[in-house]
Amino acid sequence: MKYETVIGLEIHAELSTKTKAFCACEYKFGGEVNTQCCPGCSAMPGALPVLNKSVVDYAVKMGLAAGCRINKTSAFDRKNYFYPDLPGGYQTTQNFTPVCEGGGVDFFHEGEKRTARLTRIHMEEDTAKLLHGDAFEGTLIDFNRAGVPLIEIVTEPDFRSGEEVKNFLEALRTMLLTLDICNCKMQEGAMRCDINVSVRPEGQKEFGTRVEMKNVNTFSGAILAIEFEAARQIALLESGGRLFQETRRWDEQLEESVAMRTKEDAADYRYFRDPNLVPLVISDEWIAEIAADLPELPIPKLERYKSLGVPTAESHMLIEQVDKSRFFEAAITLGANPKNAAIWTMGHITARLNKVGMAIADAPVSAADLHAVLEMVAAKKISIDSGKLVIDEIFDAHERGEKPASPDEIVQKKSLAQVSDEGEIKRLVEEVLAANEKSVADYKGGKQNAFAFLVGQCMKASKGKANPQVVNELIRAALG
Ligand code: ADP
Ligand code: MG
Ligand code: ZN
Repeated sequence: MKYETVIGLEIHAELSTKTKAFCACEYKFGGEVNTQCCPGCSAMPGALPVLNKSVVDYAVKMGLAAGCRINKTSAFDRKNYFYPDLPGGYQTTQNFTPVCEGGGVDFFHEGEKRTARLTRIHMEEDTAKLLHGDAFEGTLIDFNRAGVPLIEIVTEPDFRSGEEVKNFLEALRTMLLTLDICNCKMQEGAMRCDINVSVRPEGQKEFGTRVEMKNVNTFSGAILAIEFEAARQIALLESGGRLFQETRRWDEQLEESVAMRTKEDAADYRYFRDPNLVPLVISDEWIAEIAADLPELPIPKLERYKSLGVPTAESHMLIEQVDKSRFFEAAITLGANPKNAAIWTMGHITARLNKVGMAIADAPVSAADLHAVLEMVAAKKISIDSGKLVIDEIFDAHERGEKPASPDEIVQKKSLAQVSDEGEIKRLVEEVLAANEKSVADYKGGKQNAFAFLVGQCMKASKGKANPQVVNELIRAALG
């Protein structure tokens, strides 16, 4: 029998608001333990929550970008359970009425555009972090993360393979980064994904029993986890076993899913409205304000880049790397040719950045520098290789602790300017032809390769500075 895998996702994105969801604490990942908390987020008796308006702004922003319905009246509920990382004994979340419902996120799979439908987006708070270590006995609690705002994005069970899930998660990350509401650093837990997997015999309409997998920390891990879990379920069914709804943990080291607990029912959480928080009413004006502030979304941006002549590969890379697309936009605003600006940004400049693990925002090279270099290359003032040398020199100067010179100055100082002067190049060509009589004879005897060799020799003799077009023309003329 053949089986089909069915997957639905629950994605938690940590919102990069200045302060936490219900108190005024600021939160930055990696802060000293228990320095970013207050009586509110550590749940001291009597402390009362006040909703941070930015959390609603961010959640609605995501909702509008995904075409969700925005619920003008929603509320916060308590999800009750006992665990040491939850100081109040409950998590403040939106169970009964989420802020957003419906909608979808577009992504590309196998070269085709698809839409994953969203069930809902709701706001909630993060938990504290438990610390286990060799330096101390037992377990300690760091409350810095307690009360940090999250949105949980729940998808419909619309995915059929790990690869498809990975492509969707990449598109979702691009969306969150474009909206500038989450930094998406998975290694810091800023974007976390629970994966629901079931299998069913091909052709069957009803879904099979699902298993929820937690702790998937990378996109490539998602593929492995889905493949492992689907194979486990199929093997179980084939051997006559029965599946039951459970929560499993993905173990990255073992590369297998491990049983955690049988699935708890909603009833186990004894949800009820939080009596300390007033209903959340979002006015039309508020929604309009957020809508007016939405940036250009990834897919329209992709289409615009393509229409500007940016190659497909570079277009995709640029929308995924929002900081690079800002740099690219700045360069084309200055008048740079979009195709070349994209190729240089994602090519030579990215290669230099990657060497030292630097973000483009911190790079010594500016969009104006790139524009200047591209102009000189287009005007044949310098060759493409010399253009790359100019970029390199800007990085090198920065690494030496110097303030980089302007591209113009670098071209002068390093005498990179291309020689187009016919008289000068003619002398060079004559020298090279005289020194390579055999190649000249080969060419005249019909060997085309010899021509390229002679051009190469001239370029070498000019240290790459001769204008190759002029060299070509003059050699052709000299050989008749
Ligand atoms: P809970 O909140 O208890 O985890 P939900 O009903 O909200 O449960 O579903 C959570 C996720 O499970 C959603 O992403 C949904 O798409 C997915 N899901 C539901 N049924 C299935 C199924 N049979 N197979 C795979 N995924 C499923
Ligand atoms: Mg769940
Ligand atoms: Zn606090």
